[in-house]
Amino acid sequence: MEYTYLFGPVPSRRFGRSLGIDLVPFKTCSFDCAFCEVGRTTFSTGERAEYVPIDDVVAEFQQWVASGGEAEVITLAGSGEPTLHSRFGELIDAIRSSCDTPIVLLTNSSLMHLPDVRTSAAKADIVKVSLSAWDEASFQRVNRPASGLAFDALVSGLQQFRSVFSGRLWLEVFLLKGINDAPAGVARIAALAEGIAPDSVQLNTVVRPPAEPSAVSISREELECLAPLFSPPAEIIARFQAAEGQAPASSVRASHVLAMLTRRPCTLEDIAGAFGLEKALAESLVETLASEQSIRAITRPDGVYYGPSEGV
Ligand code: SF4
Repeated sequence: MEYTYLFGPVPSRRFGRSLGIDLVPFKTCSFDCAFCEVGRTTFSTGERAEYVPIDDVVAEFQQWVASGGEAEVITLAGSGEPTLHSRFGELIDAIRSSCDTPIVLLTNSSLMHLPDVRTSAAKADIVKVSLSAWDEASFQRVNRPASGLAFDALVSGLQQFRSVFSGRLWLEVFLLKGINDAPAGVARIAALAEGIAPDSVQLNTVVRPPAEPSAVSISREELECLAPLFSPPAEIIARFQAAEGQAPASSVRASHVLAMLTRRPCTLEDIAGAFGLEKALAESLVETLASEQSIRAITRPDGVYYGPSEGV
C-alpha cells in the first residue's frame, strides 16, 4: 500500500523498527541546521498550523494498523519539525486509541516554550529533544532558527517540559568540528542539560550527508573525551545499525525505498537491512529509482549514500 504521511518502518539507531509519521511538507522546519540530513530548509517558520490534514493522517495510520502493520515504535518525525503541526497532540491520542505501540516524538525543542506544545508532547512515551548550543550566538551558528525563536526561551521551555513530563526524556547534543565542539562550549551545554534533567544525554555527530558540506563530524575519540563533561556521562550514539527482523522482501517496492530515502539518506546496506532484502535486490531498487532520477548518490568518506534528487 502506498502512503503519503507514513514511511517505513525504517531502522532507527535507538528504537529498532520505527514507523515514521511525517506531519509537515518537505522541508518545513523551525531550524535550518548545518548538519541536517534531510537537506536545506526551504520553508523556515516558527508558526504552527495544520500543515497536513490530520484526519487524513489518522485515516492512513488506521489503514496501516488494519493491514497488520507492525513496528517497535511509532515516531513523529520526518522532513521537518513535527511540533509545528498544530494538531500533533490529537494524532498521538488517535494512535494511542488504535494500538499500544510506544510513541516517540523527535523534536528540535524550538517550540517547547509554548504551553500547548508541552501539553501535546507530554502525551508521547519518549520525547527526544535537541540542545546543541549554549547561547544565542552558538544557536544561530548551529541551528539557524526561524525568526522570532530565541535560545533562552528554548532552554526555559525544556525545563518546564521536564517538570510536567513523566515519560522518558532524551536529550541529543549534535557536535560539529570547529563549530560547537570546543570543550568550553560543550561544558556549557552540559551545565544547561543538568538544569533540564533528561533521562539520558546522547552525543551525536554527522553520519549521513549533511545540508552543508562545511558540517564536519568529530571522531569517536573526541566524543569520548567530551562525554564525561555531562553528569551522568553522555552516551555516544553508535553508527547507524540496521535492525533485525524486517518487512518481508516481497512487499517492498521502489516507492517504499524512495519514501525512506526522501527523509533520510542511507547506504545500500542500510536499505537492505531496513527492508530485510538481499543486497542485490536493494541494489536493483536503487537502480530503478536512480534511472527515474528520483534519487542521487552522495559519496562520503564512509561510503556511498542515496538521497532524494534535487526537487524530489
Ligand atoms: S536537523 Fe531537524 S531541526 Fe535541524 S533542520 Fe533538519 S529537520 Fe530541522
